[in-house]
Amino acid sequence: MPQKTKNTPMMEQYLAVKKQYPDAFLFYRLGDFYEMFYEDAVKGSQLLELTLTARNKNAVDPIPMCGIPHHAAQNYIDILVEKGYKVAICEQVEDPKATKGMVKREVVQLITPGTIMDQKNGEASENNYLTALHEEQEKYSLAYVDLSTGEIKVATLTTRDALVNELLSLKTREVVIDETISQQTKQILDKLKLLTSVQDTKVLTAEVSYVTQTISVAAEKSVLELLLAYLLETQKRSLSHLQKAVHYEPSHYLKIDHAAQRNLELLQNLRTDRRQGTLLWLLDKTKTAMGGRLLKQWIMRPLLDKEVIIKRQAIVENLLENYFERASLTEQLTKVYDLERLAGRVAFGSVNGRDLIQLKTSLEQVPQIRYLLEQLEPKLYAELLSELDPVEDVADLIERAIVPEPPISVTEGNLIQEGYNTELDQYHDAMRNGKKWLAELEASERKKTGIATLKIGFNRVFGYYIEVSKANVSKLEEGRYQRKQTLANAERFVTPELKEKEELILGAETKAYDLEYQLFKDIREQIKDQIERLQKLASKLAELDVLQSFANVSEENHFVRPKLATTSQTLQIKDGWHPVVEKVLGKQSYVPNDVSLADETDILLITGPNMSGKSTYMRQLALSVVMAQMGCFVPAKSAVMPIFDQIFTRIGAADDLISGESTFMVEMKEANEALQHATAKSLILFDEIGRGTATYDGMALAQAIIEYLHDHVHAKTLFSTHYHELTALEEELPKLTNIHVGAVEKDGELVFLHKMQKGPADRSYGVHVAKLAGMPSALLTRAATILATLEGQANEGLQFEMQAEEIKEAEISANDTQLSLFEPELVSSSNSNETEVLAELQQTNLM
Ligand code: ADP
Repeated sequence: MPQKTKNTPMMEQYLAVKKQYPDAFLFYRLGDFYEMFYEDAVKGSQLLELTLTARNKNAVDPIPMCGIPHHAAQNYIDILVEKGYKVAICEQVEDPKATKGMVKREVVQLITPGTIMDQKNGEASENNYLTALHEEQEKYSLAYVDLSTGEIKVATLTTRDALVNELLSLKTREVVIDETISQQTKQILDKLKLLTSVQDTKVLTAEVSYVTQTISVAAEKSVLELLLAYLLETQKRSLSHLQKAVHYEPSHYLKIDHAAQRNLELLQNLRTDRRQGTLLWLLDKTKTAMGGRLLKQWIMRPLLDKEVIIKRQAIVENLLENYFERASLTEQLTKVYDLERLAGRVAFGSVNGRDLIQLKTSLEQVPQIRYLLEQLEPKLYAELLSELDPVEDVADLIERAIVPEPPISVTEGNLIQEGYNTELDQYHDAMRNGKKWLAELEASERKKTGIATLKIGFNRVFGYYIEVSKANVSKLEEGRYQRKQTLANAERFVTPELKEKEELILGAETKAYDLEYQLFKDIREQIKDQIERLQKLASKLAELDVLQSFANVSEENHFVRPKLATTSQTLQIKDGWHPVVEKVLGKQSYVPNDVSLADETDILLITGPNMSGKSTYMRQLALSVVMAQMGCFVPAKSAVMPIFDQIFTRIGAADDLISGESTFMVEMKEANEALQHATAKSLILFDEIGRGTATYDGMALAQAIIEYLHDHVHAKTLFSTHYHELTALEEELPKLTNIHVGAVEKDGELVFLHKMQKGPADRSYGVHVAKLAGMPSALLTRAATILATLEGQANEGLQFEMQAEEIKEAEISANDTQLSLFEPELVSSSNSNETEVLAELQQTNLM
């Protein structure tokens, strides 16, 4: 048997480090490379498309190996982390030149999907969240952080559903758990395919203790400590940019669960998964990355507090009315960089000269922005103004200290301004003026000694010297000149002054670089002390940015400021439209519609053929509610709206995503959610409830649901249905009103008017559609006769069946012509995964 090769000391060191990070790719620094070995190398070379080589190629057991040049490492790290892996960066922590034997190496940072700092282009307006979880008596405390901005939020949720919703809405990349997490919860995290990291200890440093000061609930404090401990353990550096944790109550915001968020396409297009075609896409005219992120948060959490909504509205209105000031504000904001992330990088120590110039440029916009707001209406903007601190000291410091166009590197000089530091100026002087300086010294020495032939020279061994011919040596002042070298007819000397200058000149460059780096670090530290102010400023600028975005979008799209009804839940929208569909179809093609849900009406029962616009109508209302409660204006001629507490949806699209069998279950579960949790202040959108089962069954359920909503829930409800029979409910239920979407036959074509009208729909579209489909006229006449007979008979059962047939035909025809607003694409697997998990959860809960 061939003997296994004994490991070298280096491989011993490698294995020891690797043992501590079994679930991460270990990037092990060797000179200018990061090397991966063993499994890491095999897997890493595949994932990163690198060449797999081996150490000890000729040995019996060569070690698989692959390497990455250290200056290109970031790209590779990004790829791995993006794919959901962790990467441990192991550096040489001693100077190899100064050590004998093995250089000490340590992991200096563990980069995980939840803790990336450097956002790639295009991700500026995305938050990247890491969430910690703590479970106690069926309550879930969670704390999440965006490490790049330092924002931390903490909440406690009371159901597992709520937890899943929150995790999905946050799109958290990674979850940190402790021993409190139950098996069931772990299974859910697994199903959601969330990377989970177990953190056993909660050891904190004094530096981060301020983060927890704001949190008083024990379980929340505990989860926050868990989060911080994980950050400290993985990042191993200053985290002073972390903001004080903010507790939030989910119940203080308009509740829209994840399914509804998806169905309403608030942030993600259902078909493409992208932004295009979403409310976010429509509303986003923000100019800063911070504003972009905040807008997203606002869409996810519209407000319930009327006062705050009105404050936002008032600012939007004011900006809307003042075109020039708004244009100027927008322009100023364009020059504001991502202050939040810049501040994060200052603390993290990864900021460079260019970042500081961006920071300065951003700060320089603030006085002008303040001036604009003061010009507009100081009172209105008082709250914003009080926090819009131009942080002049930092701007000044950067102005004084950093050159206007610094290089990327912070260790290779050309970074610090002339005049900032005398010692550095001398180095620069020495570098630039070395020769001139020596010439001056030569002249002054000649004058002082009276030796006209005295000269200053340089050689590699002795450096700079003063050369005097032997005959003149006696003229030199005693004790001042130190002999260095004797030639045939001349002597070479140095003076302390020359020695000093020599050092300056020779060492100037390296010294300048070192000193510049020192000074830079010092400047960074000084700015670090002001991080809280920078973050406050950033958050106010973000707010202002979102508000100017609202104003610009509202102007461009002719939105109107909704009046918020206080005393009742009255809702009156005149000529409202679906802002996104209208944007895509064009104003000319879109037919605006009223929504009237006054006190005497809770339920609108909507009938009409397929493709006539029923679901668009429902979505348009939901979007208007979301927009109104964010403080934005709404797509309508005029609007009076109550403040809703929750939006429940059961709208068609979700059933595209899940397998047939569970469709009906999901439908019932979503309906049940609304029935159980809706209040008189909620908005419910039910699109064709009951169509997933047999006709009788479905219709019976639909009717019972409507009656239940009417008698017990009293929420404002839009209910669309194919069951024409349900329109008779208007007789029995005083708070139910029938409306329908009109359609007319014009030149042999069925034209949808897309106009909502009072009363139930004319139900004979099935035959119309069949005609449009080109069926033989004899057949159509026969169908019409049968229909008339059936309608004449009191045979309800047959009538139902006929109704079902009609529906099918109409559907077939409509599906053929179903227009897709945005390119239909396959829904990504992650989403169907989410939906499946939700469906499963819903099923478990039902049992
Ligand atoms: P339904 O729910 O009745 O099947 P949809 O709401 O899905 O119908 O609408 C079908 C299509 O009709 C939409 O994709 C849109 O292009 C168009 N549409 C809907 N409402 C309007 C409207 N008010 N004005 C113009 N076109 C509309």
